[in-house]
Amino acid sequence: MSTPAAEELLPPKLSRRWHYAREQAISFLMQQAVENPDVISLAAGLVDSETLPVAETRAAVQKVLEDHGSGKMALQYGTTAGSERLRRLLLAHFGQLEGCDPHDLGVDAGQLVVTTGSQQLLSLVCEILLDPGDICLVAGPTYFVFVGNLNGVGAEIVTIPSDDDGMQTGALEAALQQLEAEGRLDRVKLIYAVSYYDNPSGRSLSTERRQQIVDIAHRWSKHHRLFVLEDAAYRELRYDGETLPSVWSFDETRQTVIYTQTFSKSYSPGLRIGFGVLPRDLVKPVCDRKGNEDFGSANFNQHILATVLESGLYDSHVEQVCAAYRIKRDAMLAAADRWFADLPGVSWVHPHGGLYVWMSLPPQIQTGFKSELFRRAVEEGVMYVPGELCYASPLDERPRSEMRLSYGVQPPEGIEEGMRRLSVAVRSMLVS
Ligand code: PMP
Repeated sequence: MSTPAAEELLPPKLSRRWHYAREQAISFLMQQAVENPDVISLAAGLVDSETLPVAETRAAVQKVLEDHGSGKMALQYGTTAGSERLRRLLLAHFGQLEGCDPHDLGVDAGQLVVTTGSQQLLSLVCEILLDPGDICLVAGPTYFVFVGNLNGVGAEIVTIPSDDDGMQTGALEAALQQLEAEGRLDRVKLIYAVSYYDNPSGRSLSTERRQQIVDIAHRWSKHHRLFVLEDAAYRELRYDGETLPSVWSFDETRQTVIYTQTFSKSYSPGLRIGFGVLPRDLVKPVCDRKGNEDFGSANFNQHILATVLESGLYDSHVEQVCAAYRIKRDAMLAAADRWFADLPGVSWVHPHGGLYVWMSLPPQIQTGFKSELFRRAVEEGVMYVPGELCYASPLDERPRSEMRLSYGVQPPEGIEEGMRRLSVAVRSMLVS
């Protein structure tokens, strides 16, 4: 038999799971950025390269490779759940964030799993808990990559409205009552919340709502345990305001809240290290699934991070990063005041941390990729993330006049100029 020419080959027959995964908006934004190199991107959610800890990491790499023994250990495969040394350090770090001795946390290092970014844990949780048709409740707006994870496993997503205090717990309760009335409570498995300085809204859940979400999960665990997935990705990027307790801290059973955090924002996304604090009976399912995927996150990177945490350099780095982002957050808020304050119907959230400002425009101005505003913004030389991408509800039910603005990547001057350009585009829509 002769080898067929490439163009004679049949098309691939991709899996049903692939079909669940819908087109990623991020690819469109990246394409736009490549095609328009002079555009100031207030869209990119990346951390600022200027703050990346090159010297600290170089010192840690040298220490890891200092002698043959430690170098060999770091360059070998690790274990699926992650390096024991790192997990012990993570437990201590988590204790520090929770304001208590690690022995009093009510969990042990065996319940900490190291993952390839916290994104992997979000994905693993979907895979071990959700069959097609199972239900996850999320805030509207929410972290759009997680919506992709939920779509990827065929889950149904129920959107709960949010306000300045985060997901509205009255609406959460009402949604659960509705699902019970429809006889679908047995399909409800998960409540997802970005608890600190949300991506995209910049808001944090209030202390009261944190407690209420845990209470609701306990009360509505009627057919099986209803889990809360607390995504604390931005917890350490706090610039001012109160130090909020985690949602996890309200779960006295330690069996209901799945807590995830990452070193991507506070240290380096290139290391791809995140971790989960898991209810005891989810540790094995998560590790079984992770074993199928990668049998452990990059061991070398875990040793680097462990060395950084041991050296004490981590805490001082986080302080520097927060100081740098505080300046940029202030630059964006000052620019918003300067360029948008006189525009009727325009409002924005004042975040106390994280990387995002969420702006709402009057309802007659749509912000989507195909909107006139988006076209004019790119023409003026600025880009944002359309707010409608951050909702999981059907398109015609989503608010269409919001946008996510990020101060992560641009320097203060770029933020100022980007906001000026954006205001020109918005102003032009208000007069036309
Ligand atoms: N959660 C949220 C809310 C995020 O914004 C991100 C990154 N954009 C992640 C999780 C995942 O980050 P990583 O995989 O780098 O830890």
